[in-house]
Amino acid sequence: MKTDELREMYLDFYVSKGHTLQGSDVLVPTWDPSVLFTPAGMNQFKDHFLGKVKLDFTRATTCQKCLRTGDIENVGRTAYHHTFFEMLGNFSFGDYFKTEAIHWAWEFLTSKKWLNIPAGRLNVTVYKDDDEAFGIWHEQIGLPTSKIARMDEDENFWPASAPSQGPDGVCGPCSEIYYELEGGESVEIWNLVFTQFNRIGSPPDNLHPLPSKNIDTGMGLERCASVLQGQPTNYHIDNLFPIVQAAAEVCSRNYSLDSDDGRRLRRITDHVRACTFSIHENVYPGPDKAKYVVRRLIRRAVLDGHQMGLREPFLHQIVPAVVEQMKKPYPELAESVQRVTRVMQKEEEAFFQTLDAALSRIDQMFTRMEDVAGVMVDGNEAADLYKTYGVPPELLQTLASEKNLTFDWDGYNKSMDQHAVDSGAGQKELFQTGPLETLKESLRETPFLGYEQISASCHVKGIIVGNTDGDEHLLGKVAAGGADQELRVVLDHTPFYAESGGQVGDVGTIHNDDFEFHVTDTQKHAALIVHYGHLVRGTIHENATVTADVDTERRDAIRRAHSATHILHHALQKHVGQHAQQQGSKVEADVLRFDFTNQEALSEAQIEAIQSDVLEHVAAGDPIRWDTVPLADARAAGAMMLFGEKYPDPVRMVSMGEFSKELCGGTHLDNTGDVQAFELTSEESVSSNTRRIVALTGEKAKAYRQQTTEILEAAAKQLACPVAAVSEATKSLIDQVRKLKKQLASGNADVQKRTPVTGGGGEASYAKMKLIVRDTARMLNVAAADVSSRIDALLADEKSLIQQLANLTAGEQVTADDLLADAETVGESLLIVRTIDGANPNVIRQLIDQLRKKSDKPVAVLLATVVGGDKVILVAGISKALVEGGMSAGKWVGEVAAVVGGGGGGKPDLAQAGGKDPEKLPAAIDKAKEGARAMIG
Ligand code: ATP
Ligand code: MG
Repeated sequence: MKTDELREMYLDFYVSKGHTLQGSDVLVPTWDPSVLFTPAGMNQFKDHFLGKVKLDFTRATTCQKCLRTGDIENVGRTAYHHTFFEMLGNFSFGDYFKTEAIHWAWEFLTSKKWLNIPAGRLNVTVYKDDDEAFGIWHEQIGLPTSKIARMDEDENFWPASAPSQGPDGVCGPCSEIYYELEGGESVEIWNLVFTQFNRIGSPPDNLHPLPSKNIDTGMGLERCASVLQGQPTNYHIDNLFPIVQAAAEVCSRNYSLDSDDGRRLRRITDHVRACTFSIHENVYPGPDKAKYVVRRLIRRAVLDGHQMGLREPFLHQIVPAVVEQMKKPYPELAESVQRVTRVMQKEEEAFFQTLDAALSRIDQMFTRMEDVAGVMVDGNEAADLYKTYGVPPELLQTLASEKNLTFDWDGYNKSMDQHAVDSGAGQKELFQTGPLETLKESLRETPFLGYEQISASCHVKGIIVGNTDGDEHLLGKVAAGGADQELRVVLDHTPFYAESGGQVGDVGTIHNDDFEFHVTDTQKHAALIVHYGHLVRGTIHENATVTADVDTERRDAIRRAHSATHILHHALQKHVGQHAQQQGSKVEADVLRFDFTNQEALSEAQIEAIQSDVLEHVAAGDPIRWDTVPLADARAAGAMMLFGEKYPDPVRMVSMGEFSKELCGGTHLDNTGDVQAFELTSEESVSSNTRRIVALTGEKAKAYRQQTTEILEAAAKQLACPVAAVSEATKSLIDQVRKLKKQLASGNADVQKRTPVTGGGGEASYAKMKLIVRDTARMLNVAAADVSSRIDALLADEKSLIQQLANLTAGEQVTADDLLADAETVGESLLIVRTIDGANPNVIRQLIDQLRKKSDKPVAVLLATVVGGDKVILVAGISKALVEGGMSAGKWVGEVAAVVGGGGGGKPDLAQAGGKDPEKLPAAIDKAKEGARAMIG
């Protein structure tokens, strides 16, 4: 069974058990600060398990992209570990529990209809005190006690060792399913976690039953495929071995299982695949967090290549092979092949440049250590290798461990801390020097004119070139020339708003007849306002009289977004509660991001209420005023103040109509009506206590609204359904394509038309339309803007599948009489063996029935056909007389199927088998004839 088929089969199985199919979460979940990469299927459901979100469903099934950095050292060495792998899972949120979880896992693995793994090859573990799980496996499933091992809490509890060591909180025992390999060794393929306790305090009696119990299971896709495909390692399965081969080719090596090169090629395969998925998600190699993991993976793989003699970047050449293998389940990868390749090549180039020098230093170090019988790599020296050559300490540690040397992490960390102090990172704060400091002393502060005017006449007070690395200095004049040279300009006063309070800095131009300076950002340094940008014409002089013009259109768009932020804050307090206070915000041109305190996701009703509340305030056209008032007066007036925030006195208070008073330094509209339009586009979690809203105003909101409507109308047209039924019709299309693919694979040509979706009736409100677009995009696993092209692709798939199925039925037309006319006489019987191009297996079985009825002599028939271009189906049938004579259709077809790389069987008089090598069909036909002649004779 192909890996792609296994993935689909698992999901189909759990859908048939009432689970909702959900997409994979991203690999790098920036929304979850507790992990760098998604380590398991359950992570996207954390809030579901904790009962923090409203549940649309209580059973889910997924195939999740995972990455485990903890397994890096295992990769290449064990047969069954990757960093990147796919995990299949089924989840219950307070719905079914142990009995169903175990029964279904067993059914999926062993039943003929599904994986059909011989029960004798499976054994399981349970937590030592989990008599319930033991009982289900033993009494209900019927596993002998010799096949159920009771394990300790460090093996069979989630989180590991939780009962004795914590942490407090939800936890539970688990049960693992192992497959026994030829040599008696076992591999874990599936882990069933039964989350049933809340741990409070130390043992004993610290595990309290949860009122609502959960199921979380994880089955390794590659491990299970490897078992089903009878392969020696995960790396030999159908969607990984082509990558191993591509790596072998790029490295000019012959791959073999048990050699150093073999291990290296497997590691390269894994790491390129992991990095392809990470870079695709915009996680580029870099100095920290997830980026650092990507850097380490690339450098480890480069080192493997280096050890096989490569001296030029090579890894990036393997990316297309990864995409080729993975693009079926993850079609979005195909769009980023070039980007991923480029990023990887650049990182490789940089590392190759220093690698030779670094390795020779590492060699010297190891030799020196041998001389003095040293056992621990010196942390100082490791830090030096990192600073000079970029050798990650983890990589050095790996090289050291190959020589049985340990690594001095303490020394390494101390040395790196000292490095930070020496390079001035720590001192800067204490003794600041430089041109900005000089300006601060002479000017003290830059008065801001921008509340009243967006253009002003000013004088140049300082021009700074260079960056903060130490080569920055003040100049009396600078001429345009170095086009990209960044300058910083300080004026005596300015209408440009410097980034603060979440509002971005202004852009615009500073100019006079002699020069033109483009301002690309404005920032505050203490009380100085600094304009960043470059000179596009002429020469700028200190003390020149200039005009400073803020980009008005952009500033107006920022004002719209900022005023809308205050209105939104008010609406949140009203519809979510007093606790929904601002945690942070970012205000840009017609885009705003607003973080506020709240634990659970907002309901659809809340979101709708907030959206329409904001719009009501916009429609009301209330005046907006700002005054500078004593802090005490602002407090007395009930202005919104944030906990823990320090305010100056006096403060600037921004009021809108009678409904909103906030202390704020930003630039605002004169009237709420000028917000023009408001669209709340997303609401999501940023951390366990904080939610984030993103919204649009003005032109962007209008464009968004129009786009949403257009997307939906286009989709409705494509799917020929009412607008309100688009998500339903999309689901039906997805299901249909899935079903057709399965039919094609099994050779069942009986096409059922997709029932048109007519429901959903009536007019859809705009709010409803937005939800439909969101749901549809989620289902299709694309951005809203790509919904239409994705539906097109699915419709094309559907059409082509139907065509392929039609070709199946329209196979070569052969009648029973044709076949009888060509039959070979063997003794008293007739022998008919041949292929019928493109025939449907149902038709073949009917033909065999007719032959047996029509012929007056006993017949032995074996007919073969190829379906879907790559699958052979063989059906054999023999007359009763031959069965009585000792011949078996099952045995016959089984021997023949082996020739085409497959197997199968059935009853003595009728049997079917499959195979996967259509090119071996002629040999199989010969074999079939020989076999039958021998058996009949
Ligand atoms: P192992 O002990 O073999 O590392 P595990 O106990 O860490 O496995 P779980 O955390 O229970 O595994 O994950 C569930 C399933 O995911 C496992 O049963 C296995 O099939 C698969 N799996 C786990 N880690 C890897 C990996 N690094 N590469 C491939 N598959 C894995
Ligand atoms: Mg593990």
